[in-house]
Amino acid sequence: MSTTVSRNPYTGDEINSYKNYSKQKVAEIIDKADKQFYNWRETSFAERKKLMLAAASELIKNKEEYANTMTLEMGKPITQAIAEIEKCAWVCEYYAQNAEKHLENEVIKSDAYKSYVSFEPLGAVLAVMPWNYPYWQVFRFAAPALMAGNIGVLKHASNVFGCALNIEKIFKRAGFPDYCFSTLLIGGKDVEAVIENKKIKAVTLTGSGPAGASVASIAGKNIKKSVLELGGSNALVVFKDCDIEKTVDTCVQARFQNTGQSCIAGKRLLIDASISEEFTEKLLVKVRELKAGNPMDEDTFIGTMAREDLAEDLEKQVNESIKAGAKLLIGGKRQGAFFEPTVLTNVTKSMAVFKEETFGPALAITTFKTEEEAVELSNNSKFGLGVSLFTKDVKRAETLAFQFEEGAVFINELVKSDPRLPFGGIKESGYGRELSKYGIREFINKKTIYINK
Ligand code: NAP
Repeated sequence: MSTTVSRNPYTGDEINSYKNYSKQKVAEIIDKADKQFYNWRETSFAERKKLMLAAASELIKNKEEYANTMTLEMGKPITQAIAEIEKCAWVCEYYAQNAEKHLENEVIKSDAYKSYVSFEPLGAVLAVMPWNYPYWQVFRFAAPALMAGNIGVLKHASNVFGCALNIEKIFKRAGFPDYCFSTLLIGGKDVEAVIENKKIKAVTLTGSGPAGASVASIAGKNIKKSVLELGGSNALVVFKDCDIEKTVDTCVQARFQNTGQSCIAGKRLLIDASISEEFTEKLLVKVRELKAGNPMDEDTFIGTMAREDLAEDLEKQVNESIKAGAKLLIGGKRQGAFFEPTVLTNVTKSMAVFKEETFGPALAITTFKTEEEAVELSNNSKFGLGVSLFTKDVKRAETLAFQFEEGAVFINELVKSDPRLPFGGIKESGYGRELSKYGIREFINKKTIYINK
């Protein structure tokens, strides 16, 4: 049986070693999850709500414990890790309060005496999840799934198995019945057999394009619903009439929080050429101020990246782009899993830092002269997760929003997730939505009820 070792990316030390689950153990868990579904779906919203609120309380009560595991396993600075745990409590509370309303029968007038849509759960749903927000990604799937009467089965990224087991523990401590939510300690290659299991009714994956394509094709072959939340290369589009000071601060946050390892990070800064010099100078001052260091220290903002190989990938993209003519303004060096906060300018469409996703602390600056050029540059990406527009002319930005091929347009704000708003992408950023009423309706049978007297 294979084992998976978790390693602290800051110290390189081994944290723990996990025995991967055997095929038999996985099949047993799925059997029990499926059995539990037929009880769980009968529970009332009030009962589910009580348990989901208990999960929120458990997260808050032991936030330091849960955040510590995250920081040790994937290097997220501790204050950002605690904020992530608090956000998980928020999504639990949101769905505890709103699930019933989002899933109320929808009466539709037809030829029938009475006709309506009943929103009903599907069963056990597999969630294949990434390490970058190791709790948030899971809770934003699990809270709506469980509130809707579905069952959660998690396959987490192999470097955050400690977080995965903690999540199972959180639902247990909150009082959820056994097998409402289970963690499988398995590798990516074991996912195919899980999707093929008849008792798994649907699958959601948050992660890279290749993993998404593989999971979706297996789901397709087995005629199962899938949702994909994949990569992104969001643009920060800065118009010349923006509030420069505020925009600089927002752009620094958008690119460098979570050490740049976010699908919705602003990776490409597109700026009107007439203000680019002033803006870049101010931006560099702020980037120099970012405090890098031990992720366990409360004043650390930039931690190590989650794994050394990921830092090496970023180094390659940065070096290739410099070779192709980009100008390095700050950073660019790697030491183990640590990558300096980096800013490149004179970036063009053909460079790696523009056309590929950069999953770490590196910002690529490109200038534009016209609004049309700004839209064209922003859309010139295989991804379509989100874009931020910065301007004082909010009306113009609102009109322009239609032209951006994205799942979200944020005006004078960084792209962020919020339990109340739908989240997801188009193009190679995936399909389907999480969060809000749209998210809870993904793994749902929209059943038509037609009655004649
Ligand atoms: P990843 O390598 O695709 O891994 C994500 C998950 O998929 C892990 O659990 C991984 O397991 C599993 N996996 C990998 N290959 C697989 C395969 N062929 N079949 C089945 N499962 C497979 O991605 P990552 O490096 O962890 O995460 C970074 C990526 O996620 C970035 O592209 C980022 O943009 C994207 N992301 C998107 C969103 C969004 O909401 N759109 C949010 C966060 C991250 P193992 O760890 O065992 O390999």
